Amino acid sequence: MIKVNEIFHSIQGESTFVGNPTLFIRTTGCNLRCHYCDTKYSYYEGSLMSIEDLVREAQQRPHLKYVCITGGEPLLQKEVYPLMSALCDLGYFVSLETSGSKSCREVDGRVKIVLDVKTPASGEGDSFLLENIVGSPLSTEFKFVICSEDDFKWSENFCRQHDLFEKFTVLYSPSFEEVEPQWLAEKILQQNSPARLQLQLHKYIWFPHTRGV
Ligand code: SF4
Repeated sequence: MIKVNEIFHSIQGESTFVGNPTLFIRTTGCNLRCHYCDTKYSYYEGSLMSIEDLVREAQQRPHLKYVCITGGEPLLQKEVYPLMSALCDLGYFVSLETSGSKSCREVDGRVKIVLDVKTPASGEGDSFLLENIVGSPLSTEFKFVICSEDDFKWSENFCRQHDLFEKFTVLYSPSFEEVEPQWLAEKILQQNSPARLQLQLHKYIWFPHTRGV
């Protein structure tokens, strides 16, 4: 069984899947406490659901193509791994949003992994497991939520030190209401950073969505 905080159908606001109608499955529980966390309600609340229940949630939507497993931290629960495989077997494009503080080694290779590398200003800057870089498929995306100038410099150093720009898609997002998108856009251009600017769409546009659980 998987403890699930909420299930909702909305528009994907992040990653290169941005803009796609997506079913979100938000699992309960997180091992981190980022200062800007907008899903604190997912730390403890939730209901137990089987893999079959969750697959049925997807199958109820006839034109659904994208399913996003998010949290909290989805990888805290072992049954999330076979859930992702079951959804891939059915032909869904499955993405996983994780902080990278847990090993991704066992994640099905068909899943798009979005690693949200925590910067120092998040308050969880030491949480990332470097082994998640070495074993990552090339489809993996690395996301940095930038909270300050120091965060920008730290992220640039991190990406260059680990060759992320050469191998993977790197996304920089301004921390909402903390850093102006314009400032980050200029910073990326001034510093010749290969990172892609990403506005977390769901923070700027309210999407109607249907919730469950
Ligand atoms: S990892 Fe995500 S869910 Fe956990 S505290 Fe940070 S922002 Fe919140």
